[in-house]
Amino acid sequence: MADGFSLFTDRSVVAMRVNGELKDLAATLETTDVVEPVTIDSPDGLNILRHSATHVLAQAVQTVNPAARLGIGPFVTDGFYYDFDVAEPFTPEDIKSLEKAMDRIIRQGQRFVRRIVTHDEARAELAAEPYKLELIGIKGGPGEGGDHSSTVDANNSATAEEESVEVGGAELTIYDNVDPKTGETVWKDLCRGPHLPSTRMIGNGFSLTRLAAAYWRGSEKNPQLQRIYGTAWPTKDALRAYQARQEEAAKRDHRKLGAELDLFSFPEEIGSGLPVFHPKGGIIRQEMENYSRQRHTEAGYDFVYTPHITKSTLFETSGHLDWYADGMFPPMHLDEERDDSGHVTRQGVDYYLKPMNCPFHNLIFKSRGRSYRELPLRLFEFGSVYRYEKSGVVHGLTRVRGMTQDDAHIYTTREGMKEELTSTLNFVLNLLADYGLNDYYLELSTKDPKKFVGSDEAWEEATQTLSEVATASGLELVADPGGAAFYGPKISVQARDALGRTWQMSTIQLDFNLPERFELEYTANDGTRQRPVMIHRALFGSVERFFAVLTEHYAGAFPVWLSPVQVVGIPVSEQYGPFLDDIVMRLKKVGVRAEVDHSDDRMQKKIRTHTKAKVPFQLIVGEEDQANNAVSFRFRDGTQDNGVPVTEAIRRIVEAIETRAQVVTSPSTAREAADVEAAVTGAAATDAASPVTQDVL
Ligand SMILES: [Zn+2]
Ligand SMILES: [Zn+2]
Repeated sequence: MADGFSLFTDRSVVAMRVNGELKDLAATLETTDVVEPVTIDSPDGLNILRHSATHVLAQAVQTVNPAARLGIGPFVTDGFYYDFDVAEPFTPEDIKSLEKAMDRIIRQGQRFVRRIVTHDEARAELAAEPYKLELIGIKGGPGEGGDHSSTVDANNSATAEEESVEVGGAELTIYDNVDPKTGETVWKDLCRGPHLPSTRMIGNGFSLTRLAAAYWRGSEKNPQLQRIYGTAWPTKDALRAYQARQEEAAKRDHRKLGAELDLFSFPEEIGSGLPVFHPKGGIIRQEMENYSRQRHTEAGYDFVYTPHITKSTLFETSGHLDWYADGMFPPMHLDEERDDSGHVTRQGVDYYLKPMNCPFHNLIFKSRGRSYRELPLRLFEFGSVYRYEKSGVVHGLTRVRGMTQDDAHIYTTREGMKEELTSTLNFVLNLLADYGLNDYYLELSTKDPKKFVGSDEAWEEATQTLSEVATASGLELVADPGGAAFYGPKISVQARDALGRTWQMSTIQLDFNLPERFELEYTANDGTRQRPVMIHRALFGSVERFFAVLTEHYAGAFPVWLSPVQVVGIPVSEQYGPFLDDIVMRLKKVGVRAEVDHSDDRMQKKIRTHTKAKVPFQLIVGEEDQANNAVSFRFRDGTQDNGVPVTEAIRRIVEAIETRAQVVTSPSTAREAADVEAAVTGAAATDAASPVTQDVL
């Protein structure tokens, strides 16, 4: 009988899909099978490589420490991990010796051999591995076949999907690692597979990356295991390229830049996922919000304000307590009264911190009768919401427990829906571009045929409308069939940042459900009572998350309009200080955030300081400049434009701010010039020698 080895002689083929299901090359094939090769550099191939590498890691750990007990070892995005129960946590030195031990196993060329076992056999063979026994126990009947494409990102809680890597297959299987010389099984693991044919194919493109602690099966009630993360690539070069990308991302990490540039912090005393913004971060945030307010006012939005807490009844009406309770902070039980003997004389009420603003806006809509003449009614709020994120997933400003959404709810007629969606999407894209994000694609999430409310025609029309609007935008449109929430279809804007990473930004979500639950109505022009359609839309998503994305996109070198300090005057020596004071005074009068560095530092030191702080314009003045009533611009990339008349200099600065001129840091040049320059002055010399990518809108 044929197998994958006889079918595929190309060495880069490491597994195969048989009738859609991933299998080892050693699997036997029927003549009727539809077989596709899986190469090592394909997404499936990379997952198999990484899963095989994590087996080798576990073998290495048990070679060094036979007492280590095995948790699970799945692949994750760009890598893998394995959890171990060990008496002492691993150390960075352990990592080095484990990599060496892995290297030895890889060079031995051990074969991965699949073996089907019964539950009893598995229990007997894995008697020393209590965690594996538990997994065997939870595996009920046959699991789902097919691939196990884990898209789970590296965090501290293992999910059912990750666990399914061991026991998710149709039958229980053990993978033996067989020494090719002796034919002896040197190690084995409960695993659904598939695997590379041989450890040798892992090659030298692997690395162990970090250590973490993780609770068994993600529950704090379970023992804490020690997790080792790693990454694996088909070649050493691919590994190096990955490491360079990671380094660049680490340099731009908003948590690091947030501390370096004094923008925000997460005080332990306040609690996990609850940031405070410092004055400099406050300026950026205020500018972001002010511009958003201005644009929303121009686009016909009305501003509303709502409280942070509410009685539970509101979230019962909205349904949040039914389907979102896990994401909410527990209630505060208030206003209960008791007599001296402790009997309740007045029932208390549960209050919740709000996780969403929509129900509040619905009450504003409902506060009085509404006429079709008032529609579309667009209620906007920078609404602070609180969500109970598990401590393991809280991350910088991108995943927080308290955040402010730039949230709007638009109430419109069925007939007006299309026009409103069109203008909303255009508004969103336009505004994102003003913040410097102009590389995006759209994702259209459509109806899950098994789970939806509202009429088929309304869905049809809404989906059709969203699709037309999206297509008309000329942007790439990716379908997400069945991905909509039960209450309506959604468009989301996925923005690519300067490193090519994708972030989900704005969402425009239609809702046929809440208007029903809140019994929202308006009087149509024929006098009948009609139900409005509701559109939820957030542009930043949350101000915090958007702040983080912008910080990483710009690597902290914000465009001038967002920069906390826009201009710093640097006198060549202190005698030119008063001349600069005068210029700075004039700049301040027109609203520019400017200051003069009068410190005792030498000029070169001042330039370094303000370049590091990523101030977009340094104005340097020496004898010649002062004599000519001029200044010399110095930009963040170190280029200069000398002898610019003061009036012209002020004009250029003001123009750069008013036009929200953009500068995008190209990641390839970012390593040499971590601080990239806003050469927004047009005439500024950006000669070919300077590694600058500029993109002035
Ligand atoms: Zn496995
Ligand atoms: Zn909403």
